[in-house]
Amino acid sequence: MLTRVCRLHGCNDLRIEEIPVSPPGPGEVLVAIGAGGICGSDLHYYQDGGFGPVRVQEPIILGHEAAGTVIATGPDASGLAQGDVVAINPSRPCGNCPYCAQGLFNHCLEMRFNGSALRMPHEQGLFRDRVVVGAGQCVRAAPGILVAEAACSEPLAVCIHAAGRAGDLAGLKVLVTGSGPIGVLCAAMAALRGAAEVVVTDLEDAPLAVARQMGATRTVNVAREPGALAPYAADKGYFDVCFECTAAAPAIRSAIESLRPLGTLVQVGVTGDVVIPLNMLVAKEIAITGTHRFQPEFAEAVALINSRAIDVRPMISQSFPLERAEEAFSAAGDRTRAVKVHLTFG
Ligand code: ZN
Repeated sequence: MLTRVCRLHGCNDLRIEEIPVSPPGPGEVLVAIGAGGICGSDLHYYQDGGFGPVRVQEPIILGHEAAGTVIATGPDASGLAQGDVVAINPSRPCGNCPYCAQGLFNHCLEMRFNGSALRMPHEQGLFRDRVVVGAGQCVRAAPGILVAEAACSEPLAVCIHAAGRAGDLAGLKVLVTGSGPIGVLCAAMAALRGAAEVVVTDLEDAPLAVARQMGATRTVNVAREPGALAPYAADKGYFDVCFECTAAAPAIRSAIESLRPLGTLVQVGVTGDVVIPLNMLVAKEIAITGTHRFQPEFAEAVALINSRAIDVRPMISQSFPLERAEEAFSAAGDRTRAVKVHLTFG
């Protein structure tokens, strides 16, 4: 059997190709992918051939945010049956390294992550009609949940992990800088965890409208209203926690300005080196923490989507069939309109 795949051969060289797919082996299932979200990293691979030190060095099938329907099960594919709609966890820690032994699976030394060019050979991704994956990678979606919703489990898992890095959010005042998919999901998590206020910033109006649908209590277009955050900086700052989702120096600066003393900056957005106002960080005793991927949070993400405790539907801006992948990638890069763009498969 052949399957269509969406494979990147280099910068701006995306090809729809056919490759063989073998039947599922022991502990594996064959999934017909229904929807796959285009992530910022997919976009960087496509537009720039990578990001930071991570470069595309060989053809790579993109995609790590996918869900589909089980169409065949191998022996010992426990708990799954034909017809199950599942979200696929792209993260496959080794289970044996020192970090896995401590339960820090997201720091696994031998991590295999679908659609990642971090290692050679690259880990192939999920933008394809059919894929064989481990049954353990699959978490069932509830009846009535769209496959496109289930495909949002991976970015939601990232944000559940980020929320965990901030600690208890109940009653807190939360700032989210950047209203892309990760920003709106951080806002949704803050609202779910009982934050008293969730203020979200961006340079575009369309993603801010989505943020309001997903839990923001106030949104600020900092391009149109550059001074709008200034009042939050009075008396040494206002917010208890900031989820910084842009990795842009001006946003990091305004986050540190508007955090109160002893506040927490969770750095979610990623970039290379960036200037930060260290004097203010030190003087206000602000804690800064990174957040990286997830592991147990994936199942939690599917559960939150299954119950619609977090309704991801507002963030899915557009869907394109696989054969229109280039159009989909270009739509995903248009922040004036898109939050999350999905590919759909046959
Ligand atoms: Zn490991």
